[in-house]
Amino acid sequence: MQRSEITIDLGAIRHNARRLLEALDGSELWAVVKANGYGHGATDAAHAALEGGATALCVATVREGVELRREQPGARILVMGPTDAVAEAREARLELAVLDGEIPSEIPVHLKLDTGMGRWGLAELPQPPVNVVGLMSHLATADSDPEFAARQVERFHEATDPYPDLTRHLANSAAALRLPDARFDAARCGIALYGISPFESDPAEDGLRPALAWRSRLAQVRLLQRGESTGYGRRFVAEQPTWIGIVPVGYADGFRRDMTGTEVLVDGEPRRAVGTVSMDAFAVELGRELPVGTTVTIVGDGILVERHAEVAGTIGYEIACGIESRPERARRAVLA
Ligand SMILES: *Cc1c(COP(=O)(O)O)cnc(C)c1O
Repeated sequence: MQRSEITIDLGAIRHNARRLLEALDGSELWAVVKANGYGHGATDAAHAALEGGATALCVATVREGVELRREQPGARILVMGPTDAVAEAREARLELAVLDGEIPSEIPVHLKLDTGMGRWGLAELPQPPVNVVGLMSHLATADSDPEFAARQVERFHEATDPYPDLTRHLANSAAALRLPDARFDAARCGIALYGISPFESDPAEDGLRPALAWRSRLAQVRLLQRGESTGYGRRFVAEQPTWIGIVPVGYADGFRRDMTGTEVLVDGEPRRAVGTVSMDAFAVELGRELPVGTTVTIVGDGILVERHAEVAGTIGYEIACGIESRPERARRAVLA
């Protein structure tokens, strides 16, 4: 039996791309597919996003860009993170974001200005050399503090208004959806493309559809008697006779230890994960006896990564990136 199955719905990614384009109202959509497409598979996500209307792809590293180039011979690919592998990037016809220091020549570059993120980026824009094709910055609070975001938009305007011929891009998913002033010429959108809310709310509120489903099965079912426990540390002790199921998915698969208490669907009904999550398994309270092999939906069919993130005290991004889809751990299926 497969331990679990991850299904990626490319139709949902295409839908989300179109939804973002509608929100962008004329600005280009650039699809962010770093970190293996936020756990969804970079090449599949890139393909679907381009079909949905995206006009460029963004990654974090040259290595990601080189890999993507094999599948996407014609697409614009921008490396957003720092790199010294300029020759390799040139060879793969990538574009580079320049975050500080020297501006490499003979490769299209985007100068990144720090307007308030306080991380990567130039403090001031230099006079752009001829190989500069874009000007960019990144918002620190598009999802949480529109006032600070507006200050960043303003700084970006001041610095870049003298260069109307260069492509200006500032917005991420949250800004693309909710901050019209941040749209400029293109928006770099990741999380929303995958149908995960940048606001940690229900993605349907912004017209987005989750693209990833993650399902497993009950591998074992047992009745705990009062006083019996399941898992390391005896963190769940039955107070009365309790049916529990063991699901062959654990923190090595991305079902994190701090997800104890989160709800999954067992045979379509919401059930709580109980006890300590182990490396390769977690337990779920069943409420009644159910057969071995019963489907357990960890993500999908209304179970949102946003809710797991809330339980784990993190964000949907981190849950999605952590889902392990290598063939040793899970079967991966793609719905065209
Ligand atoms: C990851 C990233 C994005 C995409 O952000 P989302 O919130 O996933 O849309 C955009 N710009 C930069 C520079 C990034 O690193």
